[in-house]
Amino acid sequence: MGRSVLVTGGNRGIGLAVATALAADGDRVAVTHRDSGPPDERLLGVHAEMTDPASIDAAFAKAEAAHGPVEVLVVNAGITRDGLVLRMEERDFTDVVDVNLHGAFRTVRRAVRGMMRARWGRIVLISSMTYAYGAPGQVNYAAAKAGMLGMARSLAWELGPRNITVNVVSPGLIDTDMSREITDQRREHLLSITPLGRTGEPEDIAAAVRYLTGESGRFVTGAVLPVSGGLGLGG
Ligand code: NDP
Repeated sequence: MGRSVLVTGGNRGIGLAVATALAADGDRVAVTHRDSGPPDERLLGVHAEMTDPASIDAAFAKAEAAHGPVEVLVVNAGITRDGLVLRMEERDFTDVVDVNLHGAFRTVRRAVRGMMRARWGRIVLISSMTYAYGAPGQVNYAAAKAGMLGMARSLAWELGPRNITVNVVSPGLIDTDMSREITDQRREHLLSITPLGRTGEPEDIAAAVRYLTGESGRFVTGAVLPVSGGLGLGG
């Protein structure tokens, strides 16, 4: 029968690959989007804005009406707004934290209600290797992505007794719209500190999410899994 899954920002990039992989396994998958819905008709598109709790609530209500209470949540929606600290506007900091970190909190809080009732759940937060090594121009993003680790570990303690696991996947450079925005110089630098020497595909992240939410990952919680070609090794 599969599980009821919700992936935030699942209309493109990493989120779409995760959603597609889980749907192929037989899960009933809803993906949040803002303007354009999912390109795959096996996925249920639900509109949600990560900065708006009412919009997140409405997205869950729609997904749950179609698929039943959400059993697997993948928090993937994220943005960058890069700039060196002296030039970083207040707004660039708060917006990035609002979407990436506070958005994760809002989404998880909405999801755990049903998971606690069911005494089963799987939550995966998509962070970034930037949490470990930092990056010039990403004070906002690195702070938000590092915050997700503390959040996941606290959630692991709170929710473990209800058989709900909470883990973090930490991607390196993955080929998506987001990573295509970086400068050639920055890309070259990141690849030079990546032992495998190449970018990853969104499907590499999907494989990690399948493991963490699947039967093989049932005893893993509070973990941070780098899927980065070795970028950030030892971080
Ligand atoms: P994309 O930019 O390709 O996609 C981002 C997704 O997030 C889109 O679905 C977008 O929706 C959604 N989103 C952004 N802002 C909001 C918002 N305010 N409310 C609701 N949805 C929103 O990114 P990636 O697929 O590359 O990244 C996915 C995740 O992986 C992010 O959290 C990112 O930080 C992380 N990551 C990516 C890496 C990479 O190299 N690509 C490396 C490390 C981490 P919409 O289509 O409506 O804009």
